[in-house]
Amino acid sequence: MEINYKEIGFKAGLEIHQQLDTHKLFCECPSVLRNDLPLAVVKRRIHAVAGESGEVDVAAKFQSDEKKEFSYQTYDTTCLVELDEEPPHKLNLEALNTTLEIALLLNCKVFPMTQIMRKTIVNGSNTSGFQRTVLIARGGYIETSGGKVGINSIYLEEDSARPIERNSDSTIYRLDRLGIPLVEISTDPDLKSSVQVKEAALKIGEILRSTRVRRGIGTIRQDLNISIKGSNRVEIKGFQDPKIMEKCVENEVLRQKSFLDRKEKNPSEVRNCLPDGTTEFLRPIPGSARMYPETDLPVLHISRELINQVKKNLPKLKEEIEEELRKDGLDGEMIKLILKSNKLEKYKELYEINGNPKLISKVLLLFPKEIAKKEKKSLEEIEEILSHDVLLFLLESVYKEKIQERDLKHVMEKIVSGVSAKEAIKLEKEDFLDLEEKIMKIIKEKSGLSANAYMGLVMKEFKGKISGEDAMKVINKFLK
Ligand SMILES: [Zn+2]
Repeated sequence: MEINYKEIGFKAGLEIHQQLDTHKLFCECPSVLRNDLPLAVVKRRIHAVAGESGEVDVAAKFQSDEKKEFSYQTYDTTCLVELDEEPPHKLNLEALNTTLEIALLLNCKVFPMTQIMRKTIVNGSNTSGFQRTVLIARGGYIETSGGKVGINSIYLEEDSARPIERNSDSTIYRLDRLGIPLVEISTDPDLKSSVQVKEAALKIGEILRSTRVRRGIGTIRQDLNISIKGSNRVEIKGFQDPKIMEKCVENEVLRQKSFLDRKEKNPSEVRNCLPDGTTEFLRPIPGSARMYPETDLPVLHISRELINQVKKNLPKLKEEIEEELRKDGLDGEMIKLILKSNKLEKYKELYEINGNPKLISKVLLLFPKEIAKKEKKSLEEIEEILSHDVLLFLLESVYKEKIQERDLKHVMEKIVSGVSAKEAIKLEKEDFLDLEEKIMKIIKEKSGLSANAYMGLVMKEFKGKISGEDAMKVINKFLK
């Protein structure tokens, strides 16, 4: 069924959680997930208490009514901070730096002074019963084909503990994930169709990946807030697979519409996105009564100098990088290959040595592939032999005219066959001198012919070993 998004008053906003690639936010433990046996297990019960305003949060109450027991698995990569037996350490400045990069790339305004807060969470996923979170920036935007989408807020917060096993009266959590720095990005409810939802999610994802974020399954989590005219807001969790994003939005719209058609109000709730794009009830939507200041930590000051420093060193977005490579004269296929194989850094280093983009992309991407195929070896094996240092040396040798560009592949093949890079270049030169000698012999044997006639003889004899241009050079050298 075709959905008329305008007519139904569709409104949606994204909430994206992205883990950062650094140690934990309030201690120095590494951000590594463990799959081996824990060192110890600690058991706890958690109760909902009133927030600053004196109210008990509705979601908190819902969860604590369950009277569950929680077990926490500890490791040598977790400490007393994760167990809430020690106050938080100083906020991880590397994480702050990356958050500022993300905020600036999303055109947000950064707060010069901000309070670290505690957000009540009583499903056991935080040992303390709260999650530390700090508002870093507000008021940004991204461009999409359907218009600007506002970025409402950017928070830096702690990731929760990892649920390992859920039973009716207990849950087992692993502390490895608790405290990993997480950036939370919320857009304004500006998204006007399922297509725009997907576009915005992909765009923000791309911006995030240009900074130091963790990669792979579970390192990014996307939630979606959806409503249509006359219905309550519903939050959908676990929305990360781009393949089902559009379908999930469509399904939710139809679900909300069916409530309206029956003249019923649909409840404001959190739902879980399932792999087939449908959703299921998870819990009520949390209220606003669940934040209070973190008294163990001072107010966070973000200086103008720091913001300017981050601004100066902002990473480039994929689009900008592609544009630059295009200006270098590389075609779309080659650009794709460089980015896909994660070789941009290497490409740039080689470019510093030898400013010939086409040659570099051949040496970096094409030749190793061709040689691997010819030698019936894996590309990894070939790239281990033709290491970055070897390629640097070869391109430098071309730049210094110690070898000719067209001999490069041949030299690389020699290196793969087992000789050192230096030796391979020497051999290539000796081959050429050898060839020169043989050409001289031909000229001596049949003296008195024209240059073109010698050319014919030489090419007949050494075709494939020497180019016409080089052959002519050698002939002219001897005819003088
Ligand atoms: Zn720790």
